[in-house]
Amino acid sequence: MVDEKIKPHLNTLRVLFIAAEAEPFVKVGGLGDVAGSLPLALRAVPSESIDNFHIDARLVIPFHPLISLEKFQPEKVSSFSVQSRNGPVLAEVFQVNLQGMPVYLISGEPVQAAKSVYSQNTLQDGDKYVFFSKAVLEFCNQLDWKPDILHVNDWHTAIIPAILKSNRSRYPSLATVKTVLTIHNLPFMGAGIEDSLEKFQVPPSKDTSLPAWARHFPLPMGLAAADEVVAVSPHYASELFTEEFGCGLQSFFDSHASITKGILNGIDIQTWNPEKDPLSQNSFSPENLETRSVNRELLIKEFKLDANPEIPLLTYIGRMDIQKGISLLLDALSQMKYQNWQAIIIGTGSEELERKCRQLESSLPDRVRAVIRYDSALSHRLYAGADMIMIPSRYEPCGLVQMIAMRYGCVPVAHAVGGLVDTITDHPNKESTGFLFPDPSVESLQMALIRAIKSFTNKNQWKKIQLNGMKRDFSWNASAIAYANIYLNLRGEKE
Ligand code: ADP
Repeated sequence: MVDEKIKPHLNTLRVLFIAAEAEPFVKVGGLGDVAGSLPLALRAVPSESIDNFHIDARLVIPFHPLISLEKFQPEKVSSFSVQSRNGPVLAEVFQVNLQGMPVYLISGEPVQAAKSVYSQNTLQDGDKYVFFSKAVLEFCNQLDWKPDILHVNDWHTAIIPAILKSNRSRYPSLATVKTVLTIHNLPFMGAGIEDSLEKFQVPPSKDTSLPAWARHFPLPMGLAAADEVVAVSPHYASELFTEEFGCGLQSFFDSHASITKGILNGIDIQTWNPEKDPLSQNSFSPENLETRSVNRELLIKEFKLDANPEIPLLTYIGRMDIQKGISLLLDALSQMKYQNWQAIIIGTGSEELERKCRQLESSLPDRVRAVIRYDSALSHRLYAGADMIMIPSRYEPCGLVQMIAMRYGCVPVAHAVGGLVDTITDHPNKESTGFLFPDPSVESLQMALIRAIKSFTNKNQWKKIQLNGMKRDFSWNASAIAYANIYLNLRGEKE
C-alpha cells in the first residue's frame, strides 16, 4: 500500500487486469493464481523501482454463479446493456475490496447460464466470455476511473484489444488506452465460438499477418490487435516461434517478434509459505527441515501407505489433461515395479485419464493412491510432505506447481519444456533443484525418476537439492517490475 503522505508526489498508472478467474474468488488453474496475485503485486511495486510511479491496478472477472462473496460485502456499482444481434443484454457490476484493491465482478444472463468457469459447452462459454469482454469495455465508459492499460489474459478476454481496435470511437474513455495480452496457454484459442462473436457483433480480424483460419479465433484476434504480447515464461516465449509449439501461428510470431516477450509468472508467497501455512499440518523452514518429515508421516498414515522412510513418496497435482502428460507418468510408474516409490496422484479432468489413474491404483494397491477431486487443502499437505512432484507436461507455458513444490522442499521431476526449463536446475549441479528429462516419452521420464530415486538415498545430497529449491525467489517482485516497465514503455513514459 502506498504511503498517503508520499502519494501526491507520485505519478499514477492505472491498470485494469481482466481475467476469467482469480483467487480467492474462483480458481480452476494457474490463471486463477496469477490473476489473484499479480494485480496486488503490481500495486506493491516500490515506486523507486519504476521512475516514481505508483500502479493503481484493479481486477475485473465474471461473477460466476459459484463465486460466494459472503466475506466481501459486495456493492452494486453499475448496470448497463451490452448490444447483441437479439437486442440489449443487461450487465450488472458489483465491487468488492481485496486487500485495498477494488475488484469488479460482472454479471449478466450469459455469465449466469454456465455453472462452471469453463464448460464443455463451447457455445455457452463463447456467449459468456464475449459478453463479459464487451461488458468490460462498456463498463470502462461508465467508470470515472480511466485506465491507462487494459491487461487481458488468454482467449477468454483476448477479443478486448480487437474490439477496441475495430471501434475505438465507441469507447471515448479508452481513446488512448494501451493493451497487453498475456498468453497462459496458446493452444486454447477459443475455437468454435464464431456464433457468439456474431451474436455480439464482434467482427473477425482483418489482419493479414494471421493465417485465415485464425482470424475469427479470439486469441489470435487479440494477438494481432494488442500493443504488447507476453508469454508467461521466457522459454515458452521462445517456443512460440517453433512449429512444435507455435500452433500454426509461428509465422505470425516471427513477424511480431518485437512485441512478443516472456515474463516468468510468480507465486503468491504469502499463500504458499511453508513457514506459515494453516493448511499444512506442521510449519517448517530451511532451518528445521526435519519437521517436514512429520508431514510426510501424516500423509502416509492418511493414505495408508508404507511408512518406510527409504521409499520416496511421489505426488502429481494437476489437471487431468493431455497437456499435462499424465498418461506418460501412469505408463512409466506401471512399469517400475522394481524401484522404490509410492505415489499420491490428485487431479480432475478428462474422464479417460481419471479412469486410468484409478486403474493404476487398483493394479498397484500397495503403492498408488488416486484422488480424483479438486482439493486445495490436500494440495498444501502434499507440497508440504511429499518427497517429489512429477511434472511430465508435454508443453508447459510456465507451470506453478514446480515453483510451489520447490518452495516446500518437494523436489520436481519434470519434462524440460517451457517454464519448467526456466525454473528448475537439473541435477547434478551445485545449484540443482530438481530433475529434468529431455523428451516427452515414458523412457525419458523413467530415467529421470530413477536418477531422482537414487539421489534420494543420499540424504545429504537430497537435502541440498531441497534447500536449493527452497531458497529460490519465486515471488512476483521481479516479474511485477517487468510488467510495470512494459506498461510505462507503452505509455511512452520510458525511453
Ligand atoms: P495449469 O494452470 O496449467 O492448470 P499450473 O501449474 O500453472 O497449471 O497451476 C495449477 C494450480 O492449480 C496450482 O496452484 C495447483 O496446486 C492447483 N491444482 C491443480 N489441480 C488441483 C487439484 N486437483 N486440487 C488442488 N489444487 C490443484
